[in-house]
Amino acid sequence: MNLSSGAILVLSGPSGAGKSSLISKIIDHIGPTYFSISTTTRAIRAGETDGVHYHFVTEEEFKREIDQEMFLEYAVVHGNYYGTSLGPVKQALKEGKLVIFDIDVQGHDAVQNRLADITTSVFITTPTLAELKKRLHNRLTDSEEVIAKRIEMAKREVQRVSEYDFLVVNDDLDRAAEILVSIAKAARMKIPTLQINEFVQTWEAQA
Ligand code: 5GP
Repeated sequence: MNLSSGAILVLSGPSGAGKSSLISKIIDHIGPTYFSISTTTRAIRAGETDGVHYHFVTEEEFKREIDQEMFLEYAVVHGNYYGTSLGPVKQALKEGKLVIFDIDVQGHDAVQNRLADITTSVFITTPTLAELKKRLHNRLTDSEEVIAKRIEMAKREVQRVSEYDFLVVNDDLDRAAEILVSIAKAARMKIPTLQINEFVQTWEAQA
């Protein structure tokens, strides 16, 4: 797939690691971006808005979109469907934007398979499992059962950190944001193989 002059930044990590806070903190400091709004079948949480945090749909609607091949990738996370719509991503890449995904490890795998050339990935986590448990309990948005599921998931996800380009430990929000700004700026500079080959040919041709 040759889509672009844009680039992709994948952010993964356990719920509660502070991905959303980090994204809000860096978004105005990294140039033109498009934050991909995923589609999900999970229930809307207090404080969330349809079309802003997610496109909330029924399982039937989600499956229809799968059949219509509307997703760049999709996965089942914590028993709910989550997916990235291809259309807006293609458009943003054409416009040369940095496209940011907040997706899980399965989604990251799928994006790497299709668009590795223009993708930079970051795994964001708390310094320890104990800290993650504390944050999940403190945010008061999920039931004990949901928190337990998220913790189990986090333990599995953390095993796959080595698949990512960068690991950011969100101990101090300002420091983590500073690191993420550097990574986002570098992500834009990633050169697809095709362009490297073209550059080398042109470079050699002008001897
Ligand atoms: P939450 O329910 O806490 O908003 O998200 C749960 C998990 O789903 C997070 O790890 C988040 O990164 C992941 N997620 C959100 N949107 C997508 C998506 O479009 N695709 C995939 N694969 N994962 C997603």
